[in-house]
Amino acid sequence: MPIDEWHSAEKRKSANPSQWKRNVIKKSIATGKSYLNYKGREIGERKTGPDCCCKKYKCFVQINEEDRKLILENFNKLEETYVQNVYLGGLIKTENVERERSKTGTGKKRSCSYKYYIKLGNRNIQICRNGFASIHGISKKRVDNVAKEYRDPTVTTPAQSSREKHQNRPNRIPSE
Ligand SMILES: [Zn+2]
Repeated sequence: MPIDEWHSAEKRKSANPSQWKRNVIKKSIATGKSYLNYKGREIGERKTGPDCCCKKYKCFVQINEEDRKLILENFNKLEETYVQNVYLGGLIKTENVERERSKTGTGKKRSCSYKYYIKLGNRNIQICRNGFASIHGISKKRVDNVAKEYRDPTVTTPAQSSREKHQNRPNRIPSE
């Protein structure tokens, strides 16, 4: 292709205003900057959410204001939503919980639960789900989606069952 022809084709490609607008919005959402949405409404920059006020972890006490600011800043520096999700997923771990059958037959059976952590230097600090969402300035829905798809895959496996141990016994006599 002659160079001037290639040039005009390239120009046509990048001169698509709706594509350009979409990219600006996408990048603004990822980096947490304020932007005008498709309807022209201004969406504010990403901020730390409300204090979870939980008594169990006291998230906003454990992670002080200075640290919260730093965490959000670093999070916003990850410019791609996917990269952010991978980062968040690395902070969510799975814990095996005994499957309990409810007596009435109602209610949800839980087979695992998630644990949320904040990494400060070399320390991993466990916090609650609400605090995790607030500190990253994201919705709880996004936390749940990340937990489902990107969480740390290592799960504590239960100890070898007694049945398996029995079968492995070397001097087992056949019953026949
Ligand atoms: Zn909390």
